[in-house]
Amino acid sequence: ENQFILAYSVHQRPTDTRCLEPHMEKAQQILGKLPKTVIADAGYGSEENYAYLEKKEIQAVVKYGSYHKEKSKAWKVNVGKIENWTYNAAEDNWTCLAGKMLHFRRESKEVSQSGYEIYKRHYRSQSCEGCPLKERCTKAAGDREVVVSLERLRYQKQAREILRSKEGYGLAVRRMTEPESVFGQLKNNRGFRRFLLRGMEKVTLEVGWLCLAHNLLKQAANDQKQRATFLQ
Ligand code: SF4
Repeated sequence: ENQFILAYSVHQRPTDTRCLEPHMEKAQQILGKLPKTVIADAGYGSEENYAYLEKKEIQAVVKYGSYHKEKSKAWKVNVGKIENWTYNAAEDNWTCLAGKMLHFRRESKEVSQSGYEIYKRHYRSQSCEGCPLKERCTKAAGDREVVVSLERLRYQKQAREILRSKEGYGLAVRRMTEPESVFGQLKNNRGFRRFLLRGMEKVTLEVGWLCLAHNLLKQAANDQKQRATFLQ
């Protein structure tokens, strides 16, 4: 908050995706409450994370993997993307850009490492035979089949709406100057490149010291600025 570090957590995970929930829990322990809004980059935009934030009634200003690509012309004219097709919720079917209907066939389930269940719905085209768009739509032989999580699409729609709103855009821009500049201070300006200690417990402690030092230096700089303004 205003370039102060309010909470930190250390994870032995190669990607950001599965760090959100444990980080929020750690933040809750430290702050005594969860934030009302979470702003995060696309690395955190998984269905599981969106579901977690919704369950905790936290506003998610979180991009997903294809958020920027969706705005490109290439994406908008891509006939194979179901995001450019029409979904009929009442009948539970899709209509592709050639006007063919894809009917529901079955549902499959994937379970993430943390136990979150993703339900994927499979739809198949009535007939793709002779379709003039086939080459641009799919490389697969026969009728096109699409597999989609409707929950994921719903979360993405919500995220898109908030990110494109004035409020969401302002918050997303703030993310660049808030946490990113703190990383810049720690890593580039103060030269923190590797941990001196080993093991989760000690490394977590080391990060704690780094955060504490950062906050003290930040506070000192703020005090100095205030004094300079006062003396003017
Ligand atoms: S190939 Fe099939 S799904 Fe794709 S546009 Fe043609 S009819 Fe529709």
